[in-house]
Amino acid sequence: MEAQTPKIVVIGAGWAGLGATYHLASQGYNVTLLEAGSAPGGLVAGWKTAGGRAVEAGIHGFWYPYRNIFSLIRKLGINPFTPFTRSSQYSPAGLEVESPIFQDLPQLPTPLGTFLYTQFKRLPLIDRLSALPLLYAVIDFDNSDAAWQRYDSVTARELFKDFGVSARLYHNSFEPMLLVGLFAPGEQCSAAAALGMLYFFILAHQPDFDVVWCRGTVGEMIFRPWLLAIEQAGGQVLTHRRVSDLTLDSTGSKVTGVVSGEGEVFDADAVIFAVGVSGIQKIVSGSSSLQSRKEFRDLMNLGAVDVLATRLWFDRKIDIPHPSNACFGFNPTTGWTFFDLNALHDEYCNEPGTVVETDFYHANQFLPLSDEQILPIVQRDLATCIPAFREAKVIDSNVIRLPRAVTHFAPGSYQYLLPGTTSFENVWMSGDWITNRHGSWSQEKAYVTGLEAANLVIERFGHGSKAQILPVEPDEPHIQLARTINQTVRGWSTAFLPNFWLP
Ligand SMILES: Cc1cc2nc3c(=O)[nH]c(=O)nc-3n(C[C@H](O)[C@H](O)[C@H](O)COP(=O)(O)OP(=O)(O)OC[C@H]3O[C@@H](n4cnc5c(N)ncnc54)[C@H](O)[C@@H]3O)c2cc1C
Repeated sequence: MEAQTPKIVVIGAGWAGLGATYHLASQGYNVTLLEAGSAPGGLVAGWKTAGGRAVEAGIHGFWYPYRNIFSLIRKLGINPFTPFTRSSQYSPAGLEVESPIFQDLPQLPTPLGTFLYTQFKRLPLIDRLSALPLLYAVIDFDNSDAAWQRYDSVTARELFKDFGVSARLYHNSFEPMLLVGLFAPGEQCSAAAALGMLYFFILAHQPDFDVVWCRGTVGEMIFRPWLLAIEQAGGQVLTHRRVSDLTLDSTGSKVTGVVSGEGEVFDADAVIFAVGVSGIQKIVSGSSSLQSRKEFRDLMNLGAVDVLATRLWFDRKIDIPHPSNACFGFNPTTGWTFFDLNALHDEYCNEPGTVVETDFYHANQFLPLSDEQILPIVQRDLATCIPAFREAKVIDSNVIRLPRAVTHFAPGSYQYLLPGTTSFENVWMSGDWITNRHGSWSQEKAYVTGLEAANLVIERFGHGSKAQILPVEPDEPHIQLARTINQTVRGWSTAFLPNFWLP
């Protein structure tokens, strides 16, 4: 018999950990959330500079299919978002693509709307048409375990090449999406991750690429009111608690406590991990309990990617056509984005100068540079897209280096990712990198996995109601039909030639 009010320890205060904590606290569990850093938020944390300016670890968009996050926002009764925004893409040659707000245009069966309404400035029709054969892979990849096994050992670049995507379409469209969506170039991304990510953000339904942003830092606009709600529900959030190990009972199969820092122990009837890949690897390196399990030792095979986030204040107003912009072709393996914060953030709408956030993904080569070396590179690249940046003066700036910050969905990595359950009977996993079948990505996935972990806790203790998790919107009927036919044909072929071909 477990304790009357089960004690749950959640480790890591990003979207996943906060999601699990909020739900369990609101169901009457005794929940303690331990966070290594000085503030909750994880990769989305924000803080103030010495000069009192708000900064954050990269700007975060909330795409149309983030149904669970939007539902949380309604539940909290807050109004943090901008309207849906348009976006542009730039290369060193200038403006390449403008995206409309897809939900405002007549709805077409997917992916027609995405291809017809996106305004490509230079990409010839023949290149766009070369994406058509790829539709087979989109149909075949249904986010099942079998589909991940089939596509995960192939690189995204090989997939696009094998399906006949033209070099220009790959370099000008697919690779930039991979650099921004999976933080790595195509030759370093799993084809499974590429198909899953592209389907969720772009291909499943016409409006999916529509995006809103917070009208300030996510920390201020969402996490602050959310933390108040967590505390009101009875949850305890403790910062500066770096977890280093778990204590086990005499059988070794059940966790009894969580060790933080220099040996502070938090008793636990159940534990939810909600840390990123590099966070869990650090814990495994120092934890004899986790080292005793193969699945945790195997996590050391996973990789993570460096990110750089900069915020620049310029001395004059510069006209930036759209608030969010993605850029490609400036460095072979680095993608970057820039955002007009005068347009997005309430705090800067009346600012006399321009405030820009510029984030670089797969930014390995930039991390060793000093701020003085990075800033001219950022200004030069901005000026390549919008020439008025060349003459402007940077009057303030903030540079945030995020080494090994985001998961590297490398080819062959799927076999090492953990599902929500573990071989410990009372330890569950959550976070944007674990495997689940929901189909979402990034912040939405992190939040959903937190709710899934909370539901597994509720299943074990039988106390309280499970969180309602909204599924991703169903596939459109023609996609459903194509998938059913494909699965039937696949079923026949494996019945006649089981395990003959490589998956
Ligand atoms: C620059 C950038 C831009 C991005 N843009 C977008 C975007 O536009 N839209 C989007 O949806 N997503 C975006 N993402 C991805 C998004 O940030 C993540 O998917 C999401 O925040 C992951 O949440 P999480 O809860 O899984 O993990 P995290 O946010 O990584 O949280 C894990 C927490 O665990 C803590 N922790 C680690 N080790 C320990 C320990 N030993 N003890 C205690 N605590 C520990 C960490 O300090 C951290 O707070 C972006 C990411 C970056 C870096």
